[in-house]
Amino acid sequence: MKAGSLLPMAASVVPREDAPGRAPDRTHEAHDWQWQLRHAVSSADELARALPLTPGELAGARRAEHQGLPLRITPYYLSLVDRDDPNCPVRRQCVPDAREDDTVPGDLVDPLGEEAHEVAPHLVQRYPDRVLLLATDRCAVYCRFCTRSRMVGNGDGAVSLDALAPALAWLRSNPEVRDVIVSGGDPLAMATDRLVRVVAAVRAVETVETIRLATRVPVTLPMRITPELVQALRPYHPIWVMTHFNHPKEITNEARAACERLADAGFPVMNQTVLLAGINDDEAVLAALFRGLVRSRVRPYYLLQADPVRGTGHLRTPLERGVELMARLQGRVSGIALPKFICDTPGGRGKVPLQADPVVARRPLEGTTTLRTFRGEFVEYVDPPRAPSCPRS
Ligand code: SF4
Repeated sequence: MKAGSLLPMAASVVPREDAPGRAPDRTHEAHDWQWQLRHAVSSADELARALPLTPGELAGARRAEHQGLPLRITPYYLSLVDRDDPNCPVRRQCVPDAREDDTVPGDLVDPLGEEAHEVAPHLVQRYPDRVLLLATDRCAVYCRFCTRSRMVGNGDGAVSLDALAPALAWLRSNPEVRDVIVSGGDPLAMATDRLVRVVAAVRAVETVETIRLATRVPVTLPMRITPELVQALRPYHPIWVMTHFNHPKEITNEARAACERLADAGFPVMNQTVLLAGINDDEAVLAALFRGLVRSRVRPYYLLQADPVRGTGHLRTPLERGVELMARLQGRVSGIALPKFICDTPGGRGKVPLQADPVVARRPLEGTTTLRTFRGEFVEYVDPPRAPSCPRS
């Protein structure tokens, strides 16, 4: 990146005010996803030229140059950052922090035990019917809360089909697996032809029913969702896209257009928000985010308790915070906009949905239950007389 060239360009990529119909001044180059990747900020000096950094951010950026999760921010995503606010919710997701050096109780290098659950190179199985295929270690932006900070950005990039051959062979010999989540890194940061070769190879396994692409590209590099990309992937449906919007500021006109392009081409788009301290652990912020996603034809699927990744203690919330927030949103936000709150248990033991218990009292002999509504009222529910069970088919 050329010194001093970033901000005037980046500010023109996305309107600061996401007013419907407003046409910002955009250059052709800034709309080219490969240009965005080539011009991504990846050093402390580049970042310091683009933003006035706090001492903690500068120390974090210098650390990221040689240790831990690397630094990488596309000009597009950087243009969403408030230059004057170190607490900007976009900034805190992408700008390194000196506290990444800290370790707090519960921290783990591999919080989901993925290395222990590897069944073939680049293939992780934590549930009987689905697997995770790690197709690359590169992303458009390196998120400071990343669960795979132990490996992203530090390998050889996209994995070759030869190197994926044992994983594909394992899939062919394990027909109980119906769902393959292609992840990384970010698979949509790969070149289209490489990505399509991987997707085609997975689709060629007859017992695989669903392919999911786990990607943050609609958030950090939405211009990557080109008509050519969706056309290239369409023959391999059903493909679901799992993305990660964490704050309403990320739902720009560009991001919305990317999600709509996917939806128009038949890709169901689901969102997994990571609950992050001081970024989105707020009822109004989450309500705006979930409603904005639904308007963009994206289903809020999970609100995830942030995984206890080493060096992310400053970004994590107590478990109870998510339960409280979801209880406050219940009934106030439409059901199609409400995700499940999930804790992915440390060690890779599986996801646990969490919610405040609305059952105040159960009286099975009487067949009545007292429920607490979202307004805090107590309501009696009376069971019907016992009927015979549905015969098994
Ligand atoms: S895009 Fe995903 S894999 Fe890449 S850094 Fe962000 S969270 Fe991690």
